[in-house]
Amino acid sequence: MNAENFAALRRAARPFEGEVWGLRPVLLWSAILVCAFTLGAGHGVHAQPDPPPTLAQTLAAHVYALSVEIGARPAGSVAEQQAAQYIAAQLADWGYAVEQQPFRFTVGDQTYTSRNVIARRAASFPHADGRTLVIGAHMDSVTAGTGADDNASGVAVMLAVAQALADVPTEYALVFVAFGAEEVGQRGSLHFVEALSETERARIVAMFNIDTVGAGDFAYVYAGARTEHHDFRRPYTPGPSWVRDLALEQAAQLGVPLRTSPPTGWDGYTGPWSDHMPFVNAGVPIAYFERWNWDAGDDPNWGVERAEGGDVLHTPRDQYAHVEAQKMAEVAQVLIGTVETLARGLYTPPTSVLAFEISNFVR
Ligand SMILES: [Zn+2]
Repeated sequence: MNAENFAALRRAARPFEGEVWGLRPVLLWSAILVCAFTLGAGHGVHAQPDPPPTLAQTLAAHVYALSVEIGARPAGSVAEQQAAQYIAAQLADWGYAVEQQPFRFTVGDQTYTSRNVIARRAASFPHADGRTLVIGAHMDSVTAGTGADDNASGVAVMLAVAQALADVPTEYALVFVAFGAEEVGQRGSLHFVEALSETERARIVAMFNIDTVGAGDFAYVYAGARTEHHDFRRPYTPGPSWVRDLALEQAAQLGVPLRTSPPTGWDGYTGPWSDHMPFVNAGVPIAYFERWNWDAGDDPNWGVERAEGGDVLHTPRDQYAHVEAQKMAEVAQVLIGTVETLARGLYTPPTSVLAFEISNFVR
């Protein structure tokens, strides 16, 4: 599918259009003109409909629903289940085929049930290889706070990407997953990957993991590190990095500040502490988004969330009041642009790294 065909087939105006697409100034200017006209003409005569919520307002509303209305969402709890229902209802509203994928896990001698929420959208013009993108964020939390930053923020961004791309004609299928039970050892993402057939796994061109993007000083994107054991402090073997680089390029185009981990630490990669890791181990190229500060803190391999105020995640401060909508919006903008670029076939992934190969590169 070429760009003209896509343009011709593109119909419905999408949410967040003017905000996200710096590349479409014409649309933005027409929106401004319409607003100016509306403000001038409608004063006191007709009740004007409320303007659609901005991207930042939409993100804040999701975080509010998950972290205030539902609250802390421990793995296997009723609250986690309520979060799953909220997420599933949103995704179904935008036309996705939604299913819940239950699984059991044990902690100590207790067995719990959790679930992943999986929303699928077929490709409009399927690529011959059945190419698929997976965009995921975990919905459970620890109990120290209410999991607003970790990870209602990531779920909110994932939902915004799903909403923005719901009606965009694509060459790749899209799969959005809200993972359960991440905080007790990435149980949901492990279950999701284990349940894939070999064919399904091979079709996944890239996985995007979004974890804790509401409070940290800077937005980061990393490629996935393949670790040979659970001591995540090295040695590790770098995996494919083109998804990370595509996101960095997209951010530069949009004028959104985005960086990767510094050479003094993970050097463009990251550790195995979130839902990207089962995909890395299965050979899927990943990009992992978080907000953090790698240049502050005592340990260059750990960093700190904020230079002033320290970590929010896994502390009693992890509350709605400590999450900033604009911080989430920056990450959402980059993700929407990156996922759309890939899904529309506007970027060809390097074939040499479509299949995961352990690099000979040793550090
Ligand atoms: Zn998390």
